Amino acid sequence: MPELPEVETMVRGIAPVVTGRVVRSAKPCRCRYRPLSIVPSPSVIARRTKGTTLVSVYRRAKRVVLELSSGDRFVIEPRMTGLMLLSDPPDREHLRFEWRFEDGEDYTGLWFWDRRGLGTIRLFDRDEFERSLGSHKLGPDALLMTVEDWKKIGERTRRPIKVALLDQKLVAGIGNLYASEILHLANVNPQTSASSLTARQLKRLRESTQTVLETAIRYEGSTLGDGTYRNALNQAGQYQNAHKVYDRADEVCMTCHEGTIIRMVQAQRSTFYCPVCQPGRTLSPTRSGRGLG
Ligand SMILES: [Zn+2]
Repeated sequence: MPELPEVETMVRGIAPVVTGRVVRSAKPCRCRYRPLSIVPSPSVIARRTKGTTLVSVYRRAKRVVLELSSGDRFVIEPRMTGLMLLSDPPDREHLRFEWRFEDGEDYTGLWFWDRRGLGTIRLFDRDEFERSLGSHKLGPDALLMTVEDWKKIGERTRRPIKVALLDQKLVAGIGNLYASEILHLANVNPQTSASSLTARQLKRLRESTQTVLETAIRYEGSTLGDGTYRNALNQAGQYQNAHKVYDRADEVCMTCHEGTIIRMVQAQRSTFYCPVCQPGRTLSPTRSGRGLG
């Protein structure tokens, strides 16, 4: 599912084409599947956006933001299977929303495609945007976090670090796949309590987060076995080939060639790690913290 690198890839893919374009129309596509959550109503969206200029495109955690000259912002959350596309959708029947632009450029529109239909589209004015996605709702962006920001995580929670990394109020943008990869690169055991991380581990986590996410962005994200995730031109990402632990249970660790990758469940989500590269707490009923499944 799209996490920070995939959403960043979407933003980088569409921004050069759609920035500065005048919106001719913005409306849901005809689609016979379960309707997307779209707020406000299509007629209000149409009225508020026609003739406005799309002044910037950026990412807020795992969402795409399209900012309009009126100050309104579309916030698109791809959730499980959503994609932002300039052309060539995987199929036409799961196209959910389209933005059409005034003529004059190569691409005439932008589409949100979503197989499962769990994505959401919101049109917010400035105040609504701040209320929904302001700093009280979302922690610092994972790519921009300082060592001080990392220290605050340890001060705010005693949950296992893997579980804390998925809490968007603590760190914005990290999802399940990259959390395992980041902890592996940092040699941190996923069950380590966030509050017991050493200064050295926090520094390594900061470096590993940047390395993993930036590398994944360079590879245009991860397209997993279901093949759903695609970049803006409907091409697969390549970072799945670089995963060291994610979805590699029972394989010999590629890093140390010694340990065997373990899959465990933390807060209902799969965690993958190497017990040799990431030594630490072992699962036991008396010591497993909150959120261990
Ligand atoms: Zn290892």
